Amino acid sequence: MATTDEQNQSLKSLLCSEERDFVVGKNEDKVPVSELTGKTVGLYFSAHWFPPCRAFTPKLAQVYTELKEKGEAFEIVFLSSDRDQRAFMEYYATMPWLALPFGDKVNKDLSQYFNVKGIPTLVIIGPDGKTVATGGRNIVALHGAKAYPFTEARVAELQKEIEEKIKKWPKELKHRLHNHSLALTQRKSYNCGGCQGGGSGWSFLCKECDFDLHPDCALKEQESEMNEKQEQADDSSNNENKTGGIVCDGEVCRRV
Ligand SMILES: [Zn+2]
Ligand SMILES: [Zn+2]
Repeated sequence: MATTDEQNQSLKSLLCSEERDFVVGKNEDKVPVSELTGKTVGLYFSAHWFPPCRAFTPKLAQVYTELKEKGEAFEIVFLSSDRDQRAFMEYYATMPWLALPFGDKVNKDLSQYFNVKGIPTLVIIGPDGKTVATGGRNIVALHGAKAYPFTEARVAELQKEIEEKIKKWPKELKHRLHNHSLALTQRKSYNCGGCQGGGSGWSFLCKECDFDLHPDCALKEQESEMNEKQEQADDSSNNENKTGGIVCDGEVCRRV
């Protein structure tokens, strides 16, 4: 890393060294750092031996693929804290993006420069080479690809959207999967009793029984129940299944 001066921070100053002006791709091909200039770039500090990293990598890969398919100018560079070359190769094989060569000195420089305290950490660098966010991991975990380009403004926008949505949710509801009423509650993490997927943030919870439902899981069925009632009221013989599929990716459920 040529400079640690924030004012003059650029992708080149971050990722290149005196001997090296490239990062590596999937077939160990050299990708010049100059090719990344002007893109939003995620610096992904991670290691295979640490379970939270292994859990987060597939989620990040999903976001990465989604953004690439949309043609966004986005790239990720993996900075490994793996113990040896073999572990690095194995872990990197599960990632669709670029990497800093294993054992490169710049890796350590960068984790000091960004004051990386734990892994996985995702630092987002903007198209101008300046730091956009150091908490990329949480942003991606909470909002997924929607958060692109991961700027403060975009995250604030999403936060507002969520708040608007929550205003329309009931504070409490009854659901056929549970005998007690469920209260809208903020949770650190939970398992949904509906789709069995994991969740964090808002939940419809029975505190007594520690029973959670994703808001989407809880409300989807309420909607379809209302539709059914509506249909019965209309004396319709149409038995079409209106429940619809819900896909749970571990953090949030979404309708498909
Ligand atoms: Zn669910
Ligand atoms: Zn209960």
